[in-house]
Amino acid sequence: MRVLILGGTYEAFQLAERLAEQGGVAFISSLAGRTREPRRPAGEVRTGGFGGAEGLARWLREQTITHVVNATHPFAAQMSTNAVAAAAAAGVPLLRLLRPAWTARRDDRWVAARHAAEAAELCRREGGRIFLTLGTGELDAFAEIRNAQFLVRMIDAPERLPLSDYRVLLARGPFSLQDEQRLLAEHHIGLVVAKNSGGEATYAKIEAARRLDLPVIMIERPPIALDPRSPAVPSVEDVIAWITQQAR
Ligand code: NAP
Repeated sequence: MRVLILGGTYEAFQLAERLAEQGGVAFISSLAGRTREPRRPAGEVRTGGFGGAEGLARWLREQTITHVVNATHPFAAQMSTNAVAAAAAAGVPLLRLLRPAWTARRDDRWVAARHAAEAAELCRREGGRIFLTLGTGELDAFAEIRNAQFLVRMIDAPERLPLSDYRVLLARGPFSLQDEQRLLAEHHIGLVVAKNSGGEATYAKIEAARRLDLPVIMIERPPIALDPRSPAVPSVEDVIAWITQQAR
């Protein structure tokens, strides 16, 4: 058995830790190579794209991969589509680790947005001090907004962002509720923009917004390709159970 973990998430990192601790299963983690100093998972790691679904299928054969775990982010739609096609082409089983989406509580003030452009339109209407927790690639939609000051948090930032008025905060989760609450208060944030990533590592900002009675523009997940033969499971525990069962 030789498992490929498509990673770039906290869960993928945890999965590699667990497999390394446990021993007995060969595995390799794959990172897209977007962050300059990624948190390096335990065990073997490769970095960079495969060259589409065909490239991945070729790579799976060359590397004699027997099982694929797609533990990429819920918004990594392209990689997930490629994983389904490549696993089918290479004839290897695929499991999707997909953390459940967050759901609004009664005391949450969420406004749903289908994508970054819709979130930007809502921000333009609202203006003021806005906490943006999106990736660099999603900021273009906010470029024309002149009535807002953005606080942008990212793991590493390019020299300039395509925003007219902003401050950058470099940080990597997980974040605590106390720190998030302090951050929102210190920066006099009036609105939070987040993707519905799910999971615990970045949930504290949502809880902090609730406590401070702040609205959250919540960008919904893109549709994710799922092969009927490759189920989605919600937790690292479930992946370990699947691998253990497949190893028998
Ligand atoms: P994406 O749009 O679905 O994928 C774009 C391309 O990036 C893929 O076609 C693939 O290139 C390459 N790629 C993506 N994930 C890869 C991986 N784990 N290993 C090797 N190549 C990978 O992905 P994305 O949304 O840009 O996310 C990129 C990475 O950041 C992923 O690892 C994801 O888990 C992580 N991440 C994403 C978000 C987010 O909000 N999107 C948030 C946190 C972390 P080829 O076609 O050349 O193979």
